[in-house]
Amino acid sequence: MIEKLVTSNLKLGVIAGGQLGKMLVQEASRWDIISYVLDPDEGCSARNVANVYVKGDFRNFDDVYAFGKQVDLLTYELEDINIDALQQLKAEGLKVLPDPDTLALIQDKGLQKAFYAKHQMPTSPFKCYDNKTEIEIAIKSGELTYPFVQKLRKGGYDGHGVALIKDANSTLLDGASMVENKVDIDKEIAVIAARNAKGEVRCFPAVEMSFGEETNLVEEIFCPSNITLKQAEVAELLATEIIENLDMVGLLAVEFFIDKTGQILINEVAPRPHNSGHHTIDAAVTSQLKQLLRAILDLPLGSTALTTASVMLNLLGEEGHTGPVHYEGFAKCMAIDGVKIHLYGKKMTRPSRKMGHVTILGNTVEEARLKAEQVKTLLKVKSCQK
Ligand code: ADP
Repeated sequence: MIEKLVTSNLKLGVIAGGQLGKMLVQEASRWDIISYVLDPDEGCSARNVANVYVKGDFRNFDDVYAFGKQVDLLTYELEDINIDALQQLKAEGLKVLPDPDTLALIQDKGLQKAFYAKHQMPTSPFKCYDNKTEIEIAIKSGELTYPFVQKLRKGGYDGHGVALIKDANSTLLDGASMVENKVDIDKEIAVIAARNAKGEVRCFPAVEMSFGEETNLVEEIFCPSNITLKQAEVAELLATEIIENLDMVGLLAVEFFIDKTGQILINEVAPRPHNSGHHTIDAAVTSQLKQLLRAILDLPLGSTALTTASVMLNLLGEEGHTGPVHYEGFAKCMAIDGVKIHLYGKKMTRPSRKMGHVTILGNTVEEARLKAEQVKTLLKVKSCQK
């Protein structure tokens, strides 16, 4: 693999071509890696930066298999992929990293929780149910008591497939589910860990998410986070333990809750680049994307030190705007020092669609926050034709 890399002949396959795929391909191109991207959407973010775009469905065996056959090394930027095809490619000798077995475990929130329980790692107590009726029966019998959080075992993303069941008036989701105790959350943090085949592990410093009071969506992510040194240590230790116990090679984003008593609980993991690592592109010695490439190419991992404090804002489509995108306030934001705008190449906007992100640098998080407030009022994702 290294020989192919240093002779500019390495073909890297990336499943899929969303914004994380685009960012990964851009980093890969700095090492002259030849990038292949598989995505069903011809207008996907990575299409115009990848060397080769392959149209295909990542849930379809034949599409994933045929795609893998064209490359030297295969990785991914989302979880919802046909595992059988990845297994087949692996069996035929292709390097698929992170390993398909790890992906299969993580794809299923029930198996993921069982893994934490097996390794006696702190996470909210849980149970699995095959369908809605089983949950209703458990409520009637008193086995399950309100409030609780229901999560579909497979296919959830960005809060879809997650429901807070407060009382009998809440609507249960239908499908195989993992049900867990509601955590009295004080803070939500995330740590991204990387591991290479030699077993070297490095963690990026924890980031903290802050949520919109009304929307309850992640509004901004800041780093360094406002947690104690001890909490930071525990979070990094847990992230390291998880990636080691999974015997994983690649990047693992670990999301945690800190409850009102200060205890750290594992929420969930993702075996790929993550929204909570966007700031590493502009505010860390090594970006999460470069770290992933180092890990899967079995190179020494890069320094995860921060170069500066930062706040990351997601750029979401404004309410009431659907159609060709127009970024209002772009030039005005460029007048503010340390404002880094990243656009994902999506031509069409719609309400709440993730169109890009902005990383705002500062000497301190407080300083970056003040600038972020300006960016929030200036920069709007609208449509040219309402
Ligand atoms: P997703 O995979 O869609 O991001 P998460 O499991 O992270 O789903 O849940 C989304 C959000 O729901 C979390 O960020 C948190 O705010 C809330 N949440 C999830 N699980 C719990 C829980 N056990 N207790 C309280 N809130 C929770």
